[in-house]
Amino acid sequence: MGRAKAITLIILIQFILLHVTKSQQGFEESLAARTLKQESHDTHEVHCSRERSRAAWQIIDDYLMPFVEEEGYQISADCRLHPDNDLFRDQERHKIHLDVNEWRCGYCKKSFRAERFLDQHFDNRHYNLLNVNQSKCLADLCGALHCDFVINSNFLKAKCNPAAATRNRHLCESLANSCFPISQGPSARRLHELFLRQFCDAHTCSGKAKPFPRGGKKQTNLLYMATSILLMMLLPLFYLLYYLYQRDMKQETQVLRRVSQVGRKAKPS
Ligand SMILES: [Zn+2]
Repeated sequence: MGRAKAITLIILIQFILLHVTKSQQGFEESLAARTLKQESHDTHEVHCSRERSRAAWQIIDDYLMPFVEEEGYQISADCRLHPDNDLFRDQERHKIHLDVNEWRCGYCKKSFRAERFLDQHFDNRHYNLLNVNQSKCLADLCGALHCDFVINSNFLKAKCNPAAATRNRHLCESLANSCFPISQGPSARRLHELFLRQFCDAHTCSGKAKPFPRGGKKQTNLLYMATSILLMMLLPLFYLLYYLYQRDMKQETQVLRRVSQVGRKAKPS
């Protein structure tokens, strides 16, 4: 009887111990899961707008890079406009736009119907490729680069805030100084001047100056395309008119010839 009691007691103690360790394990597991979740949440959380970074990059590419390339100037990595200082540059370079409704991920070749789905895919699957620690957020320069003017065409009609305009002008001028230091020679000096005219002059509430007065890639392309189309339309018209003119001339000479022949024949009689 005593032996049976002892065995039951041992079994009971083992059961309790097992239960306790199990629940402890469960607690630890949930704790580990939570920290993991928190960690992944932290790495996912990027305090930089992809859309606005993209708009800023588009502006740099359209309204600054054509002039920088023309000068053969190398922007230093200290300049915040350098591609390495754009958090999303590597991902954006890995976007493959195959068709209107087909976007492909350059890392894993997965296809998507719209750019925003590819953006989501980058956020979820390739967030580890974002250099969060070293890179700076290009969207932070949006004030200086007139992103709102490009994104929202009604922006200029909105009420101007003098304090914001002054702040943006200072940011703009500091970009001109750090990216194109005047001490670095004639190319840097010319680009410094261009940057001030192209981007900084419009940071005023007078409403006189508009951003990008020197034009950019898109405008030259548009002008080039319009001229080509006009030429292509005018060329056949020119040939048609020339052909008609030639034909008329031929007919006229034939008529004249006939008239003179008739005249000659009529004279002797
Ligand atoms: Zn992918």
